[in-house]
Order: sequence, then C-alpha cells, then structure tokens
Amino acid sequence: MPNPRSNTLQGSDKQYIYNFSGGSADGDASMKNLLGGKGANLAEMANIGLPVPPGFTISTEVCTHYYDNQKTYPDGLFETDIPKALHTIEEQLGKKFGDTNNPLLLSVRSGSRASMPGMMDTILNLGLNDNTVEGLARKSGNPRFAWDCYRRFVQMYGDVVLGLKPANSKQKDPFEEILEARKQALGKKLDTELDTDDLKHVVSAYKTAIKQETGKSFPEDPMEQLRGAISAVFGSWNNDRAIVYRKLNHIPSWWGTACNVQAMVFGNMGNSSGTGVAFTRDAASGENIFYGEYLMNAQGEDVVAGTRTPLKIIQLKEENPEIYRELDSIRTRLEQHYHDMMDIEFTIENGKLFMLQCRVGKRTGLAAIRIAYDMCREGLIGEKEAILRIEPEQLNQLLRPVFDLRQKQVAIDNGRLLAIGLNAGPGAATGNIYFNAVDAQAAKNRGEQVILVRIETSPEDIKGMSIAEGILTERGGMTSHAALVARQMGKVCVAGCGALNIDYNNGILRINGHDTVLHQGDPISLDGTTGEVIEGTITTRNSEVIEVLADKTLDPEEAPIWQIFDQFMQWADKYRKLQVRANADLPDQAELSVKLGAEGIGLCRTEHMFFGGNRIDAMREMILAEDMNGRKTALEKLLPFQREDFYGLFKTMGSRPVTIRLLDPPLHEFLPANDEEIADLAKKIGKPLDEIRNRIKDLHEANPMLGLRGCRLGIIHPQIPAMQVRAIIEAACMIKKEGYDIIPEIMVPLVGNVRELEVTGEIIHKTARSVMAEQETGVQYLVGTMIEVPRAAVTSGEIAKAADFFSYGTNDLTQMGLGMSRDDSGQYLPSYQDLDIFARNPFESIDTEGVGFLVKLSAKEGRSVKKDLKLGICGEHGGDPTTIEFCNTIGLNYISCSPFRIPVARLAAARAALCS
Ligand code: PEP
Ligand code: MG
Repeated sequence: MPNPRSNTLQGSDKQYIYNFSGGSADGDASMKNLLGGKGANLAEMANIGLPVPPGFTISTEVCTHYYDNQKTYPDGLFETDIPKALHTIEEQLGKKFGDTNNPLLLSVRSGSRASMPGMMDTILNLGLNDNTVEGLARKSGNPRFAWDCYRRFVQMYGDVVLGLKPANSKQKDPFEEILEARKQALGKKLDTELDTDDLKHVVSAYKTAIKQETGKSFPEDPMEQLRGAISAVFGSWNNDRAIVYRKLNHIPSWWGTACNVQAMVFGNMGNSSGTGVAFTRDAASGENIFYGEYLMNAQGEDVVAGTRTPLKIIQLKEENPEIYRELDSIRTRLEQHYHDMMDIEFTIENGKLFMLQCRVGKRTGLAAIRIAYDMCREGLIGEKEAILRIEPEQLNQLLRPVFDLRQKQVAIDNGRLLAIGLNAGPGAATGNIYFNAVDAQAAKNRGEQVILVRIETSPEDIKGMSIAEGILTERGGMTSHAALVARQMGKVCVAGCGALNIDYNNGILRINGHDTVLHQGDPISLDGTTGEVIEGTITTRNSEVIEVLADKTLDPEEAPIWQIFDQFMQWADKYRKLQVRANADLPDQAELSVKLGAEGIGLCRTEHMFFGGNRIDAMREMILAEDMNGRKTALEKLLPFQREDFYGLFKTMGSRPVTIRLLDPPLHEFLPANDEEIADLAKKIGKPLDEIRNRIKDLHEANPMLGLRGCRLGIIHPQIPAMQVRAIIEAACMIKKEGYDIIPEIMVPLVGNVRELEVTGEIIHKTARSVMAEQETGVQYLVGTMIEVPRAAVTSGEIAKAADFFSYGTNDLTQMGLGMSRDDSGQYLPSYQDLDIFARNPFESIDTEGVGFLVKLSAKEGRSVKKDLKLGICGEHGGDPTTIEFCNTIGLNYISCSPFRIPVARLAAARAALCS
C-alpha cells in the first residue's frame, strides 16, 4: 500500500499542539491532515469569531508517532507542551485544572482527516475527582449538577479507558445496569429524578464495579486522567469498529487521528442549558430548512447516542427565541463561509450559546444532489463545483426503487402498518428481520434479503448494516449514529421507532398496541421516506427518474427529483470528455440505455441473445455438432434470430454506434449440466442420449475460460462468424434501405496474436462483400478487437495494424493478468481485501498498477501505429468511477457499462475531466 505518510514527524522542534479560542487559532480549516476534521474546523470557527470554548488539538503526527514507537509519545509532550496549552485555557477562563475551588473540566475527543462518526472514543467532564466535584458543586451552586457530571465521567472513563464493557452484544452495559438497579430500588423512573445523594451512591457503586471487574482503580489525579484519555483516543484509532469503517470507506490506516482537548461547557446545568446537533439543511431530502434536534438539561452524548429522543430544532424557536436567532444566524454564516451544508454541534450553558463542532454534513444521495443544485442556483457555488460535490455512486439513490403504492395501501388497509418511526434514510426495502449483525450476515449468506432490527444501533453494528437492505431502530433520532451511518451508506433506515418492543434474547419483535409478534426471519417492509414499518413483503417499484425516463408513467413537469437529475446530467455532459456507451444485448436494454444517456453500444454480447425462449436449444445444437453439416443446420436456425436481433438493435440506436462482438461463449455457461436437462436436450434436437453425453464429455475443459472460446471458436469453425456477419450485414442493409445510416462495429473477442485478427478479418470481409452483393447495397462497417488477453496488450502495435478500434475487455484481462479465475475468486478476494493485498476488488475497480498498466501500454502502442485509433473499455470496470478517472487520464474515447450505471458513469466522467 502506498504510504507517503505526509504527516510523519520530522525533527524534534515539531509543533504537536495547536491552540484555539474565540477569535484566533494556530490552525485553520485547510489543515485537516494535521489537525483532523474536527480540530481544523474548531480552529476555523474560532478564527471567524464564533463562540468556541478554548482548547487545543494534539496533531495526527502524535498518533503516528504513538503507533510507530510502541505506543509512546514524543519527548516533552506531557511534561511541557500539554501543561503549557492547559495553562493558556486556564488563563482565558480563570479556572484551574484539578483545582478544588474552581476546577477546569475538559472534553477529550478524537477527530481524523475523514469523519468517522462514532467509531472512536470521546471522554467528557475530565478533571473531576472526589475533591474537584465539591469545588464544582460550590462554584455552580448546583451540587446535583456536579455529581451528575461526575457520575457521567466515571461511567465514560470506566468504559472507554478502563475497559468495563458488556462482554457480548446481548449483555447490558454494566454501568446502565447499576444505574437501573439504583432507580428501581428508589422507585424512580428517570435519571433526572435521582438526587445528589443517589448520584453519590451510583458513583461509588461504579468505582467498586470498575475495581472488581477490571482490577484497576479509577484515577483521582487529573493529569493521570488526561493521559489515560488521550491514550484511549489514540488507541481507539485501531479498535475493531474503526478498522471496519476505514475498510468500508477506503481510509488508510496510517492517517491516524488527532485528539482535541477542550474546556467543557455544560448543557446539563439546569433548564436554561441544553445541547443539540443540527444540519444547516435537511440531510435526508436536501430541503433548505434548518434541521436539527436538541435536548435541554443534557450533555452531547444524550443526543448522539439516541438514548433520549430529542426535540426538533424549530421548537427551540418557541422555547428560547434569542438563542434560536443566534443559532440561525450562525447557520447562514457557516454556509456563506464554507459554501456547503454543515453539520454542527452546540451547547447552551446557562443561556449562552457555544459551538462545539462543525463539519461538512453527511447526506443522502438525494440531498447531496438537491443541495448542490440549490446552492448553484443561490450563487453559493458554480456548476462545476456542483458536479464535484456529488459522488457518482450517490446518483444510485435517485434510481432506487420505491414501493408499489397500491400494494402498500392494501397492506395498510389490511392493518399491516405496524408503526411509524423517523424517516432517516429514504427508499423502500423489504426483507427478513434479524436482531444482530452476525445473524443478519448469516442470513445474507443464505441468500436472504435482510432488515437489521436493533434497539439502538451502535457502531459495532456497521457490518450488519452494510449488508442489510434496511435498518430499523427502536430509539435514536435523525442525527443518531444509526441514521448518519445508514444515510452515508445509502441504506433505507427507519430510526427512533418507539412502538417497537425488541426482545434480543428470544429473537422476538412485538409492537405496542398490536397483537402481532414477529420472529427472527419474518418479513417486513420499511419505507425510509415516510418512516412506515409494514408487516410482510411489498413489491418495490421503479424510482421517479425511471418512471419519467423509462416507464413514461410520470409527467416530467410533476417530477421535481427528475428535473434536478436531468439538470445534473446536462451539466455532466457539458464537461465530460469521455463518451458513454452501454453494454446492452437486446433492444429493450438498448432503449433503456439511450434513455439513461448512452451514446452508443460498446458491447453487445451476441451469445446472450440466445438465452431467451427455445433459442438456447439451437445454440446448444450448434455447439454440440460433430461435423460441418450438423453445425450448418444449427447455424441456419440461428441466422434469422440474429438478423432480427441486430435489426432491432440498429433500429433502436438510430445513427449511434453499435459494437457487436462475435460469439464468445465460455462453453460451461451454455451446455446443460444435469441429467434431466441433457435428456431434454437430446429429445429436442433428436439425438441419442448417449451421443449427447459423450459429446459433452469431449467438450469438457479444465478451465472453460481458457478453452475453445472467443476468436478461437470462429477460427476453428469459420461458419460461425460467417453466419453472424451475414446476420449483421443483412440487418444493416435492411436499415440502410429504410433510409438510416448505420456503421456496425464488428468486434473480435479474445485475440492474443495479430494473426487471429487477420484470419477472422478475412472471414468477416469475405462474408460482408458477398452479402452486400446479394443485397445490392453498400454499408460501411468497422472491424476491431477486444484487448483482453495480456499478449494482445503487449503486442498492440502489431494488432492495431489490423484493427479499426480496440475495446478493453478488462474482465478477462484482469482474470488472465492476475491469474485469478472470474468464477471462483470470490472465495478468497474478501480475505485479500482484509489483508490489504488489494484495496478494492480488482474485478470491480481496475488494478491500476498491473492491469491498468497493460491498458495504458496497449493504448500507447496502438496509437503509435494509428494516431486516431478508437479506444474504449467494456469490462465491468467501465461503470466504476475510479476506473473511469483512469480511462480519462489515459485518453480513451469511451467507456461502456451496464444500463443503470450510465448516469453514474456520465457524472464520473465529468468529474474526471474537471479534476484532470
Ligand atoms: C471482458 O472480458 O471484459 C468482456 C467485456 O467480455 P466478457 O465479460 O463477456 O468476457
Ligand atoms: Mg471477455
């Protein structure tokens, strides 16, 4: 793995600590690599004068030093640098760390370059001990508040630093258990009903449990607490969930995290205090409204963890209009400053507002597109920036299915609507319920569609979420981790559905007010757009974009999402250099492709034309034929099918280019496999069963992908390409006679040696000439080849002399280049990715250094012989944004991908052009 390690320590006078406070900071928003996203934005907010509690960021370099040096710190960090930075905070606030009269309390939080919501650790209220808690009680005049902070701190520290956690996903949190037991013993329901003495009791019970279970004592020395917390934050960079998250999001492990140490402000000081999180626009729909949640008399983790269901930000307008106004003006200010939708965290301490965090807000694909579109119209960004704001994959969310509304209505009318939760991740999902990630994964492996149901998702569930169709939670708000992570993954998510009653131990889901009892494995449906949870399965229906474009069931005027989509596609087409074609084999696929923006067909796999109806029998008869006559009879049956298909394709594509590949059947995909099928085929083609069996045995190949396929088939049995070329040219003549101009591009597969192309080329030209003479019509056509055998790539200079175009078949080129079978690499590639042997699956995203090198070499060699040689790619990689970027860099003319990837490819091509 490349390891430029741009944030590695150099020299001993390095700056490790970056201070920030209202009005000024050592860093700024551009310093994310060093300060992490959180630290850089805290510095930026301080610089623009927003109310940020003072603090400092320990840079990511310290984290890499920590891991490179057996978990030790640079000299002097704890002895000099940190005390100095602490002193700066103390001076500003007139408080002292560890002071028994007026103690300074700290928050210690992680923050890497890329946001990794909830994956790493945080500790709040640090600096409290049996003495300072009394100082805080006196200073605040609120002993209950002081002991509440202390209770929270011991809990967090005990969990995060000292490691007292539930042993497994079914066990309750040991601290929650102590708290619950205390409440029960006192006959109290809410945490807020516990008084100072109750809290003192809980703190002492916590400390005893920590000592008993971990053997460690809770440290009373604030400096020791701070060192423990900082080590826990750096340590959390390598916890299991952070590692999984990094893998899923392609975040390199060497980046490391920064650690932010900041003066605490308190949202739990009473009813004029509170805390909240908000987005400057709606992160689910993209609508330009202030969208957030808050809780009075609470600390940040209450909102984010989803343990209490918070209020909508609009209610703050009524509850505290002044703070709301200030927050709303910060909202505008941040958008004007960052030119983006921001995600903020704030705290109100005794009626004073503080900003604790801001970052570019995560959003659904739909919201990303809408926000970029709106911001462009509002003049905040230009259209190029709008394109760069959208990850091509996000477009998928606009193309995703929704429920069949009629079926859904019937389900609701029949009383199957179980509950309504928060519409945290839009889209429609149906699947069987599972209550933990392990069971969900097992069900997925069995081929089931899965809905993950959790009381509240914690980041541990991320693996289960990534394979689920949808996620349903009992607790948590729109900004809880479940919702954030689900949106980022583009998952359907209904969160905070309070009517659920989940019994993990027995694998049962009950719904308050309903008789229904659902068991693990039962089907439900989630509407992530409305928050509805419905019993049973509901058929999904095409998205608005597809309804307008393909189904024609929706008027574009009444389809606002389609309108935005359309505008983006127009912008993308304006800037991209690569043409976009479709891999389409049949007229209906070609039609959909054109609607989605295809400018031609880059690959028609002719063998796929024989999958439908009883055509497969004629195809099998042809493959199994023992002599020329038998093959000729079968080919005569195939000719009219082929002619009809090509005619349909040409007609659909009009004057757009169509690349037709000559037959390339890996035999194992076409021959019957079991006795019943073999007997059936023998009957259909009128041959004795034994003869068919023997012939299949003859044709058996150890690795069918390297057998008698591609151009080899046509060279050994020239009647096959002759029939296909006849069908192509006859269809083209028919079209020509109807007045259209069509230039078929005939493509020869699996060429490794220029002679293979020359021999096949002779068959093509001879057949084409004779058909044109018969038809008394002249049509132009091109003859090109796929470059999918490594030898073809390295001898492309020679091959180009016999070719009008090249199309890179990167599926086979990857298979042969890497020596990994396309059919069974799935067995070991996931482990290869886990081991970082490949960052991505090389069959999905091109292996740039290996297979990409071959493509680049071939393009250079080919064009050195023919300057204007047309070059394209038609392997599955053609729909992958990273590969598209690569294709743009090496100057291909077009990429070709499956129909539904076309919008993604158009946008990826525009982004590649804008970035190059
Ligand atoms: C390829 O090999 O990349 C290709 C497009 O051909 P096929 O997948 O049909 O082998
Ligand atoms: Mg191939």
